[in-house]
Amino acid sequence: MKYTYNPPAMLHPLSTEIYFTFNNGNKVPAFGLGTAAQLNRVSETKQAVKAAVKAGYRHIDTAWAYGVEEYVGEALQELFEEGVVKREDLHITSKVWHTMWDEVDRSLNESLKRLRLDYVDLFLQHWPLCSQKVHDPHFVDQTAKDPVDENGKPLYDERGDWIQTYKDIEKIYLDPNDTRVRAIGVSNFPIEYLERVLNECKVVPVCNQVELHPHLPQRDLCDFCREHNILVTAYSPFGGNDAPLLNAPIIREMCAKYDATSNEILTSYHLRQGTIVIPRSLNPTRIAANKSFIPLSEEDINKLNEFGKQNRKRLINSPTFAVIPSFKEDFIRDQKQS
Ligand code: NDP
Repeated sequence: MKYTYNPPAMLHPLSTEIYFTFNNGNKVPAFGLGTAAQLNRVSETKQAVKAAVKAGYRHIDTAWAYGVEEYVGEALQELFEEGVVKREDLHITSKVWHTMWDEVDRSLNESLKRLRLDYVDLFLQHWPLCSQKVHDPHFVDQTAKDPVDENGKPLYDERGDWIQTYKDIEKIYLDPNDTRVRAIGVSNFPIEYLERVLNECKVVPVCNQVELHPHLPQRDLCDFCREHNILVTAYSPFGGNDAPLLNAPIIREMCAKYDATSNEILTSYHLRQGTIVIPRSLNPTRIAANKSFIPLSEEDINKLNEFGKQNRKRLINSPTFAVIPSFKEDFIRDQKQS
């Protein structure tokens, strides 16, 4: 195991007090709130963000494609007006979606406008894909976000090369007169694509945000990122909607051993491995509960990683994503099994 295990003395018992450092020197709260709310509940994001910041969260993960940025923006404005936090106390991440692969500037401006901010702390390329623009103007139509034809075949933009999006993000970051982004990174990038970025681009991404949990530990990808000073952010740490991983037998076993809750086991699993983690909840009680942290042992982390090797399950996948290495293999395997 090459990961750096963070011994208990190095980490605060509250996840909200733990900070990591990006390769550009900026500090990032290692624990944040995810905001990819189900489409019928997007407006609840406002109260969730307010509850999270009041509970001590300093990191909010959002994206143009989630349709929630205006609610995040309303929450932030009220938090600033109420004097709960200042802008500089917070880390806000947004992302450019793959139908906007050649409109990075427009996507960023729309996100900033909705977020009511002058800058984001981190701007990510959401997916290494170039899809056709057939989205609806309100960005809440799921089918339009991943455009497919009448037979379900993904509609890619044949003119596109996904690396162009990162190069356009990089241009904004490197422009000394442009203050809209403080750090840049990627999401859903496999090793092969990161290698291309390292070879062809000037700025090493500060992070790669990927699906990560005990069913999908992706140790090779995490090791590669660590070797290149790229932090990893774990998305869907509880298994996405309805949090199925909280009830996984191996997690329940560890709850008994540590006298801890499933959410504590699952977030500690990442923080101890030096991985940022961004669980989502719209429920203020759970938001507050999710920030507590336990000293999960190195042995148990190894056990969870080994479990993932034997029980691999990728939760976020689709025909559109299945052109990306490793998504493709998982997609084919899942189709054979179903
Ligand atoms: P999570 O794994 O964070 O799980 C969310 C679910 O967990 C919700 O149903 C929530 O319900 C439930 N939940 C949260 N806390 C508890 C608790 N203590 N007890 C019981 N249930 C709980 O899912 P996400 O897929 O949303 O991943 C997290 C974030 O990662 C996203 O919100 C988004 O910001 C990011 N992401 C990024 C992607 C990318 O491509 N870059 C892709 C997917 C996610 P409730 O609200 O009712 O509490």
